[in-house]
Amino acid sequence: MDFDKDENITFDTSKGVKVVSTFDGMGIREDLLRGLYSYGFEKPSAIQQRAIVPITSGRDVIAQAQSGTGKTSMISLALCQMLDTNTREVQALVLSPTRELATQTEKTALALGNFMSVQVHACIGGRSIGEDIRKLDHGVHIVSGTPGRVFDMIKRRNLRTRNIKALILDEADEMLNKGFKEQIYDVYRYLPPETQVVLVSATLPQEVLEMTTKFMTDPVRILVKRDELTLEGIKQFFVAVEKEEWKFDTLCDLYDTLTITQAVIFCNTKRKVDWLTDKMRQNNFTVSSMHGDMPQKERDAIMGEFRGGTTRVLITTDVWARGIDVQQVSLVINYDLPNNRENYIHRIGRSGRYGRKGVAINFVKADDVRILRDIEQYYSTQIDEMPMNVADLI
Ligand code: ADP
Ligand code: MG
Repeated sequence: MDFDKDENITFDTSKGVKVVSTFDGMGIREDLLRGLYSYGFEKPSAIQQRAIVPITSGRDVIAQAQSGTGKTSMISLALCQMLDTNTREVQALVLSPTRELATQTEKTALALGNFMSVQVHACIGGRSIGEDIRKLDHGVHIVSGTPGRVFDMIKRRNLRTRNIKALILDEADEMLNKGFKEQIYDVYRYLPPETQVVLVSATLPQEVLEMTTKFMTDPVRILVKRDELTLEGIKQFFVAVEKEEWKFDTLCDLYDTLTITQAVIFCNTKRKVDWLTDKMRQNNFTVSSMHGDMPQKERDAIMGEFRGGTTRVLITTDVWARGIDVQQVSLVINYDLPNNRENYIHRIGRSGRYGRKGVAINFVKADDVRILRDIEQYYSTQIDEMPMNVADLI
């Protein structure tokens, strides 16, 4: 995993962030260490080497690092370390932008904390409220949720906030975006005033960093420069399609490449996901699809099949852009270019997890070229025309 080597990640060390290169050296408790090792974590990644100690020592922390480098896992890890498992009070709240990501974090915390009997509950929309109430009344240490359902549980007093020590916002820039900001503040107002706040994301635009002064105290800031945000391991290409109608044939031509391992195809709307899925199936291609208008049961089933590798090609929206970790994904297709620069980084980051190789292919119409060049310039990266032998790169 070569991004462990520091030359591949440049941190803002102006604040003198300490680097601890082993889990042992961080003073991680024995039962948690066992969980880490049995989950396959031997050595902390670069961001983990820098951010775990400040988090577990109770500091407010802003932690930025490239996609797939262990940020979300670090949340579970650090929180387990901080817990008092002698009580059954909620001590930490993790908020994520999607139900699937909140569930992923629940699972990671349960796995890492397996030997310390940690109780974790995913509090997300689309699932049974009765089950939430039952779990919360029974008592859990960590709640990992989406803002709407979490706020609902707080107002109903089933989620008691009195003993919460830490609030973590994963995909923090998304959580502090227009769509979520109010909901985050709603939740925040119910937390004890001294609650530690930790923000985590691969992308943290300036306006988000400026906002943090309102609810964070002297945070430790670990930041990545914009021109160091794309990963060496993810090769980026474009295919010029001239007009929209050509995209479909281009995708069909790429189908064999898509199924080498696993692939995610992004469209900008739910309708387009449905349309493309139907059209692929009509042409006898096997694909699965997921978006936010599907019932949660169906979303869960599709996630399960894709995580298990029974399905290999997933057509989806930006609901899948952030945080979801399926290590076998090695190819991302932007059937439509994303609507913002941040989600470009997040989408292509569904491949190339934890130092693996990845390929991103952008379908660009004539009037998209401008947008692609903007992305290329903004991140000081290179997006070349797709070569004939692209399959060899996967
Ligand atoms: P990010 O949130 O930065 O995108 P994740 O936390 O989702 O990254 O981790 C990406 C992948 O790397 C996951 O499959 C996770 O299990 C794995 N991973 C994280 N930390 C380590 C580690 N220290 N050692 C080995 N694998 C790790
Ligand atoms: Mg993450």
